[in-house]
Amino acid sequence: MSFDQMGIKDDLLRGIYQHGFEKPSAIQQRAVRPIIEGRDVIAQAQSGTGKTSMIALTVCQIVDTSSREVQALILSPTRELAAQTEKQILAIGDFISIQAHACIGGKSVGEDIRKLENGVHVVSGTPGRVCDMIKRRTLRTRAIKLLILDESDEMLSRGFKDQIYDVYRYLPPELQVCLVSATLPNEILEMTGKFMTDPVRILV
Ligand code: AMP
Repeated sequence: MSFDQMGIKDDLLRGIYQHGFEKPSAIQQRAVRPIIEGRDVIAQAQSGTGKTSMIALTVCQIVDTSSREVQALILSPTRELAAQTEKQILAIGDFISIQAHACIGGKSVGEDIRKLENGVHVVSGTPGRVCDMIKRRTLRTRAIKLLILDESDEMLSRGFKDQIYDVYRYLPPELQVCLVSATLPNEILEMTGKFMTDPVRILV
């Protein structure tokens, strides 16, 4: 399968090819279509499989850039991963003028407030900082339609479970959820049961 056959908008395809990607990786071939069609997806995949680009691609595809509201939220276990995801979104989304912001601890809250008040389409962050921004009402959740939980097993082992549930409570009820994890222990399956409806399962 090629990127052209995946139902991706033209300006996004240009960004993907400009970035040097020629062919979708296995996870991209299997996960992109169900996510852009609106399904909940559980993807069991390690890093190095192209999962970050898969996330960037789907987010860029589903966002309506004519609106300035946050429409997709990605939670990651570390600041580095959240920043890398933001970078990947900005790189392949170059031709669709997507605005993304990494909400991560260690950076000034003032910068988060300024960026979020200016209007961004996507937020990629760590659960603690995202939760904080939602509670301050700086991060508005009402237009969020897609939640991506990246490296979910790692988020749980770092003690973010309560914050993930907390963030979830603030999101609209008709939310699409995609969960990426290298392993699927019981705590993760419990989460998928609470957050997801009839998910597509992908193992790469
Ligand atoms: P990830 O698992 O998303 O961190 O990706 C691992 C590496 O593979 C990164 O350096 C990506 O830039 C690269 N990569 C991801 N998808 C593709 C693709 N379809 N073609 C070529 N390289 C890719």
